[in-house]
Amino acid sequence: MALTHPNSSSSVSEVKIDVFWHEGMLKHDTGTGVFDTLHDPGFLEILEKHPENSDRVKNMVSILKKGPISPYISWHQGRAALIPELYSFHTPDYINELVEIDKAGGKKQLCSGTILNPGSWDAALLAAGTTLKAMQNIMDGHGKISYSLVRPPGHHAQPTRADGYCFLNNAGLAVNLALNSGCKSVVVIDIDVHYGNGTAEGFYAWENVLTISLHMNHGTWGSSHPQNGSIDELGEGNGFGFNLNIPLPNGSGDKGYQYAMNELVVPAVEKFEPCMVVLVVGQDSSAFDPNGRQCLTMDGYREIGRTVKKLADKHSSGRVLIVQEGGYHLTYSAYCLHATLEGFRSCPDPLLSDPIAYYPEDEALTVKVVDSIKKYWVNNVPFLKQDRV
Ligand SMILES: [Zn+2]
Repeated sequence: MALTHPNSSSSVSEVKIDVFWHEGMLKHDTGTGVFDTLHDPGFLEILEKHPENSDRVKNMVSILKKGPISPYISWHQGRAALIPELYSFHTPDYINELVEIDKAGGKKQLCSGTILNPGSWDAALLAAGTTLKAMQNIMDGHGKISYSLVRPPGHHAQPTRADGYCFLNNAGLAVNLALNSGCKSVVVIDIDVHYGNGTAEGFYAWENVLTISLHMNHGTWGSSHPQNGSIDELGEGNGFGFNLNIPLPNGSGDKGYQYAMNELVVPAVEKFEPCMVVLVVGQDSSAFDPNGRQCLTMDGYREIGRTVKKLADKHSSGRVLIVQEGGYHLTYSAYCLHATLEGFRSCPDPLLSDPIAYYPEDEALTVKVVDSIKKYWVNNVPFLKQDRV
């Protein structure tokens, strides 16, 4: 389809982005408190909402409907997942536990910052089902780029437990749908600022799912998150070498992230040759996020979008599922989402300028860390060993 955008001087051949969304996901009410403590010790006059709140997603919907990328987007109604669909990633015992908590009226904190309130379970089922529908759309050949705009997020949810605001692993369920639909191999590239430990855990012993996570070096955060996200967590059994962790120094910024993408992610994906690409996005890697310290700006997100689009064009006939995770600054998360999706357009000019970014970057430390991870992979990851440098 040829589209001419009002701000663009030339007509370009454009891909459409199918966005999947359901407003029922707004009903997951995480309440107010001091940051994500779910608690008010009474010291403040004005309390903010829990970082993972419905307002952030309302702004994401809004910017995609009203922003300059809107002509390139087609909207689709999400759906709730059926309970049996959840068993492809989660154990029946864990799912039963969630169902029972919901039946009993909810209001249970499953782990730090993660609360299942009345309405939360329905929202979680919608997030999972909407992501499955977004993947199905690609599998059925109706579109090549799907974006699943969902909450609660999913990438910390492990087969047997909730973690980090997540109950169901939306991306993991979609990966299994792709594999069950005939895809032989899937790569998951996770750029949320936190380690995608749930997705990693679900596919830790699998050789046909390459999970790659770029994150700040936060380490474990307790019993719900025993994984470290360190470079030596490489997978196990047949899956050894197919979980690649890229912990980056705080403040890595646009240049640092692009260096990591070019030096680590792109060569690994080239070697793996996936049939399907899943990009797990969190805008909590941005410069203004309360929960992150990685300092990406809109330019950085746009460039990551471009890089992933190129990989998809080369390996998966342009097919890529984008799944929403964290991102907690009300304004900037929406803007960075817009920039990420801009990266999937074939036109190189930005559609939307950055309203705030001005930060000096020093990527020298990140470059050193990335170079050392590259060396480690060449020596320790079997499928990357032939490319000795
Ligand atoms: Zn996150």
